[in-house]
Amino acid sequence: MQYRCPKCQSAKILPVANGDTAAVRPVVPKSLVILIPALFILLLLVVISVALWLFSNGAGQTLQIATVVAFLICVVAGILFWRDLPDFKISMQSFMNANKHWKCRECNHEWHIQ
Ligand SMILES: [Zn+2]
Repeated sequence: MQYRCPKCQSAKILPVANGDTAAVRPVVPKSLVILIPALFILLLLVVISVALWLFSNGAGQTLQIATVVAFLICVVAGILFWRDLPDFKISMQSFMNANKHWKCRECNHEWHIQ
């Protein structure tokens, strides 16, 4: 099993979804589904807080509480994701092994694995 393009040896390959491989999508843990938007919200709140500190009298109390809450959600989701990670890896590996149809993002070469 190789995870590289057979033509240009690039590692930037994509699984091509077709009828028979759609059933074996990797199971994405719920913690990751929470973690990613939580990180974006936290980043946004931090940027707003910093901007307010720079250009006005500082972040309001509501914003500070929201930032702390977002941070705590990130920490909790991060810990949960850390625990889900081994299962996620196994799920991802079996998906990689089961997928037969790949496409290269570098040279657009498509190929099938027997
Ligand atoms: Zn390629």
